[in-house]
Amino acid sequence: MTEEHEIATLLAAAFGGTHGSVTPPIVQSSLFTFDSYQAFEDRMAGRSDTAIYTRVQNPTVAAFEALMATSERGEAAVGFASGMAAISSSVLAFVKPGDRIACVEHAYPDAYRLFERMLRPFGVDISYHSVAAFEDDPDLLKGVRLAYLESPNSVVFQPMNLPKVAEQARRHGTLTMIDNSWATPIFQNPLVLGIDIVVHSASKFISGHSDTVAGVVISSDRLIRQIRDLTLPLLGAKLAPFEAFLLTRGLRTLDARMQQHQRTANVFVDRLSNLPCVTRVHSPGGNSVPGLHGRSGLMSFELDDSIDIPRLSDALKLFRLGVSWGGFESLILPARVGLAQAGEENSMQRFGVSPSLVRISLGLENVEDLWADFEEALSKSAA
Ligand SMILES: *Cc1c(COP(=O)(O)O)cnc(C)c1O
Repeated sequence: MTEEHEIATLLAAAFGGTHGSVTPPIVQSSLFTFDSYQAFEDRMAGRSDTAIYTRVQNPTVAAFEALMATSERGEAAVGFASGMAAISSSVLAFVKPGDRIACVEHAYPDAYRLFERMLRPFGVDISYHSVAAFEDDPDLLKGVRLAYLESPNSVVFQPMNLPKVAEQARRHGTLTMIDNSWATPIFQNPLVLGIDIVVHSASKFISGHSDTVAGVVISSDRLIRQIRDLTLPLLGAKLAPFEAFLLTRGLRTLDARMQQHQRTANVFVDRLSNLPCVTRVHSPGGNSVPGLHGRSGLMSFELDDSIDIPRLSDALKLFRLGVSWGGFESLILPARVGLAQAGEENSMQRFGVSPSLVRISLGLENVEDLWADFEEALSKSAA
């Protein structure tokens, strides 16, 4: 396999298991034994790299990690039990008390909570900045250890000029980390644009089937080694072999699914923008910033007060009410119920999200069926 191949080809053509199988075997073993004392000693001294124990190494997990490294154009990858485990284990591998993190506004709400409720009490300073500030203030990252980015960000889906921000970060010696769950490696390869570390919630598009929770980090050999030495073994939030098998299965069809999500999303953006009751649509298209090559199926829009949002949610038949996204099924999430967090100031209040904002995840159903369902529900939702 070479760099010139399209990602879809790399994902489809990647090796399977033994006996000519096209899928990797699920190696459901906690430990791996050695044929001899000498082999054991060689492994512990680092003279071989066979698996020892599944908390840190497993062949089924390694097969998924290799595919992720290839598709994100990175040198290495490491899987985790969830997207949040990937995020927390990556941040903690590089940040210590006294350091500063600069985070983009409207980051994933649990990433925000990790920073505010866990890292701040441990003495890490966190500041939040708009996409425009990251792009236009050349001194924003002065003295910053880690820039934590999403492009587009969550909820309002503002895209960021990543090559520009990566260049500024390099000048200040700031490490850059991005959550690339929305775009997937099909529509955006942040490492190629100069970003240092890519994390994914693999529970979303990478799985694609709403049947597993998982995460993955992709970067250089050097940075992945630091995560493997420190937070993977010591926090222990490893990816399980069966989950890794499901994710490899998901990756084989990622390109085809993303193209279908994009076709449906383009139709919805077009038609939503023409509805008088829709005041804003948040959905960056391909080429809206350098290096973003497509529009995924997760978007949001704002409604005027002619529409009753609870009534709209209940009238939909194909769109189901719920959190998460990126699966085969279409979903609706009204911001004021789905993103509100009882009893604490949350990122939605802090950064200002309209209570009339509605997020939808467009699945793989027929686009005309989805639009007909949406239009009919709207017609039953007069406030
Ligand atoms: C869901 C999500 C996460 C967290 O992933 P989990 O697998 O649920 O832990 C992180 N980032 C984004 C953008 C997400 O949507």
